[in-house]
Amino acid sequence: MPELPEVEVTRRALAPHVEGRVIEGAVVRDRRLRWPVPADLVKRVRGQQVERLDRRGKYLLWRFARGVLISHLGMSGVWRVLPRAEGIPAPGRHDHADLLFALDCVRLTDPRRFGALLWHRAADGPVEFHPLLAGLGVEPFDPAFTGALLHRGTRGRSAAIKQVLLAGDIVVGVGNIYASESLFRARINPRLSAHRLGPARCDRLAGAIREVLAEAIAVGGSTLRDFVGADGAEGYFMLDAFVYERAGQPCRVCGGAIARIVQGQRATYYCRRCQSR
Ligand SMILES: [Zn+2]
Repeated sequence: MPELPEVEVTRRALAPHVEGRVIEGAVVRDRRLRWPVPADLVKRVRGQQVERLDRRGKYLLWRFARGVLISHLGMSGVWRVLPRAEGIPAPGRHDHADLLFALDCVRLTDPRRFGALLWHRAADGPVEFHPLLAGLGVEPFDPAFTGALLHRGTRGRSAAIKQVLLAGDIVVGVGNIYASESLFRARINPRLSAHRLGPARCDRLAGAIREVLAEAIAVGGSTLRDFVGADGAEGYFMLDAFVYERAGQPCRVCGGAIARIVQGQRATYYCRRCQSR
């Protein structure tokens, strides 16, 4: 499942192909994504220039003068850049939408259809107040994301710290993989009640989250060609994990066996020795 690093890498890969460029035409082949694609979406974007491609959490925000196209990759979505000079391949059954620029066709493929393509009219105010975006926590690379913020956000919350991170209302982008990895690096037990974290551990955790996500983006950046290439490879990438999906294998720090537990129906991986408290 694409997490924040994949979305950020997608944004970086797409930006030079779409920013400042005009959408000459668009095709929506299947409107049944997670929410119905607006029937008038093609009309909304045709002839419009993409002013900027931003990311907020796992949403890509295609900014136009008249509004914002909000897209999400869901469980299995991929945007690919298909140069028109090479001839656009016939769409497969999971290729739900194309945005046609002068040089490229930018195609959304999403086999499981949990992704989204929505339109937010500029007349309705800043897209940041859209119901899907309004409740999101701070961006992990925003200077506002600090240990102090994490400390404030976890007061009065007795749920396990891993669950609180996944909720995404303090900081966005810490999905299942990165929650396990960040907690390992910060040497914090994923089952610990969030409110028990003191300022020092919150500082450590905030730093670990930024580090882990930055490394994942760097890894993704190096595989960029495959990721948006026309070869159809799914291309989700993964940083070299310390704990994630390493149940039973030796911890890279202490040699103890990595444990797997289930929290909120999601697998959590951790080292009982390195993360004893
Ligand atoms: Zn260990």
